[in-house]
Amino acid sequence: MKIICYLIASVLTTAAGFAQQAAQPGIHWSEEQLRAAVGPARVGRKLTPRSWPDNARVAVCISFDVDNESYLLARGETSPTTLSAADFGAETGLPRILESLDRHRIPASFFIPAVSALLHPEMIPAILKSGRNEIGVHGWIHEYLPALSGEAEEERLLHQAIDYLTKATGKRPVGYRAPSWAFSAHTIGLLRKNGFLYDSSLSAMDEPYELMSNGQPTGLTELAIDWTLTETPYLGAEGAMPSPELLFQLYKEEFDGAYDQGTMFVLTLHPHVSGHRAPMHHLDQLLSYIQSKPGVWFATGEQIARYLKDAPRRE
Ligand SMILES: [Zn+2]
Repeated sequence: MKIICYLIASVLTTAAGFAQQAAQPGIHWSEEQLRAAVGPARVGRKLTPRSWPDNARVAVCISFDVDNESYLLARGETSPTTLSAADFGAETGLPRILESLDRHRIPASFFIPAVSALLHPEMIPAILKSGRNEIGVHGWIHEYLPALSGEAEEERLLHQAIDYLTKATGKRPVGYRAPSWAFSAHTIGLLRKNGFLYDSSLSAMDEPYELMSNGQPTGLTELAIDWTLTETPYLGAEGAMPSPELLFQLYKEEFDGAYDQGTMFVLTLHPHVSGHRAPMHHLDQLLSYIQSKPGVWFATGEQIARYLKDAPRRE
């Protein structure tokens, strides 16, 4: 039996090895091709300011991607049971999150696929009620941008999303986060063309920076996110570490590092995942811990990006 298992494992390993070798076009790329491959989104000027408002040591942006059912519907999923687990985000998760934010009296940025808002129109007034929160764009239906037919389709969906959120909120959104955090080759150009103030989809630094594209400054401020600082790889249906305690310990240590460095902490959670009881308990504790530190500026992505426009930079 042991030998059979070993043989099966060897065959699988070899097959995976061949598959990997077959798909390595980069080994033949010239220096020019390698530079072109990474050129569309690069780090420009670091934007960490000499000081944050009120001489705060660190900026903290708590953000939520309000996916709910949108990403499932984009794939054509119609199973009521599958959809109901995502509907939890609107029915239960978001109200709990808003209650917690209000109790702590802190702002947050909510990136909403327009279809999420369309299916639950009560969400937007609920988010805006405190007057502290921001609503940003997260696609029309959480469409996966690299798989769209081209720039025209991407722009049509982007315009639909902007128009819907502008009508629903009374204000044109200025912040963007790509669905699934995935850009196409056209996304940066479309963000510039449509006048966004900032993007929050990339991960090249954990302090704010100006996004460069093909050697040119874009004027877009990047408030970077990271797969470490979100919960979907760890919790929920596809999660690999069902322990919110360990996860929020990691977030706490990330915050401590940002606090020591005097930069920025951006956390991204999803109401249909983090709105459950156990992660909510730990989110409450994390917010209390951050609030116990002196010199923390809680802000929306928009407030941070506007402040960075004119603030003297640290370097
Ligand atoms: Zn999302």
